[in-house]
Amino acid sequence: MFDTSRLVIGAVFVLYAAPAYALNQSVHYQISYDSCMARGAPEAFCDQVATAAHNVDNSEFNILAAHSQMENGQTACDGADTAIWRGFWFGQQIRHTVGAVVYDNSTEHITTLAQYVGRTLHLVQDNCAHSGMPNPQHAWKSLDDVCHGTMESPDTVPEAAVCAREETDAVLDAVFASLSDWGAEKELLSNIEDHGNALTSYLDACNYLGSASLWDGVDRRWDNTIVRPRMRSEIVAAIASDDAQHVYVCDTTNDGLLVGYDADVDVSNGPNKCAGISLVCLGKADGDLPAQPDTVPGPQDHGGCNTGGGGSLFVFSLAALALGTRRVRTRRTFG
Ligand SMILES: [Zn+2]
Repeated sequence: MFDTSRLVIGAVFVLYAAPAYALNQSVHYQISYDSCMARGAPEAFCDQVATAAHNVDNSEFNILAAHSQMENGQTACDGADTAIWRGFWFGQQIRHTVGAVVYDNSTEHITTLAQYVGRTLHLVQDNCAHSGMPNPQHAWKSLDDVCHGTMESPDTVPEAAVCAREETDAVLDAVFASLSDWGAEKELLSNIEDHGNALTSYLDACNYLGSASLWDGVDRRWDNTIVRPRMRSEIVAAIASDDAQHVYVCDTTNDGLLVGYDADVDVSNGPNKCAGISLVCLGKADGDLPAQPDTVPGPQDHGGCNTGGGGSLFVFSLAALALGTRRVRTRRTFG
C-alpha cells in the first residue's frame, strides 16, 4: 500500500519546485491579493478574490480555456476565441453581480462576485504564461525542468508575472470602476463567505505530466500581441457596459494566430523520465475529482474534438486514469 498523503506531498514538492515568480497557485493568489488591496478593497474580499484565482488550478484543472490554453488538436483561433469568450462571459457575470450587490448587499452576492473576479484573474494571468500552449507541450517542458533543472516551462518566465500583474490591475480597475459607477462603497464587500484554498490534485498533476508523450515537438502558441489586448478589452468592456460584444478573434477560421517561437523539438525518444515523478505518480487512481463551478457556455460549438491517442508514460500506466469516471478532455497545467 502506498501512503497517499506522502504521495500528495511528493507531487506538490516536485511540481511546485519552481522559482518564486513562476505562475503557480500561490503566485496567482499573491498577484490577485496585492492588486486588490492596492485598490483599497477590504482584506476579506481581496482574500476571497485571490483564493478564487488560486483554486482554478484545482476546480477547473481540466478546462483548458480556464488556463488560456488550446485543447490538444484545437486551432489557435478557436482556442484563443474560447479563452477570450470565457473572459467576456465572466465580465458580463461580474457586471450583473455588481448590480445585484448594489441592490442587495448580501453575503451570497458578494461571495459570487469575488469568485467571478478571481476566475477572470486566473484566465488573464495564465494567458501571460501560456498564450495557448497545449498541455502535451507544456508537460514536456515541465518534465524537462523537473528532471534536468532547466527553466523551459512558460510559467517560469519572469515576464509572465509582470504581464500578469498588469492584466490583473486592468481587470480590477474595471471592477472597482463599475462598483463606483453604481455608487457602491468598497467597505460593503467585507460581508463575504470564507472559502479555503485547494491545491491541484495529484491525480490531475500526474495525468497532466503523462500527456507529455502526446507532444509532436511543434511549438504551438497563439500570438499574444493580438490575443492579450483583445482579451483585456472584451473583459473590461463587458464589465463596463451592457452593450459589449464578443467578436471572433480571427477573420477566418484558419490558424492565423498560431506562432512558433521555438524550433521543433525532436521527440523521437519520448519525454524526460525521472524516478521521482514515476514514484510520485504511482499511487492509486480512485480519488474523487473536485466538483466544477458553474460551467461557462461555449461561444460556439467546437465539436469537442480530442485528438489524444493512447501511449502511457514512465514505468507506470496512466491507462487507469484515462478510464476514470469523468470526461477529461485534455490535461491541464500549473500556472
Ligand atoms: Zn491555471
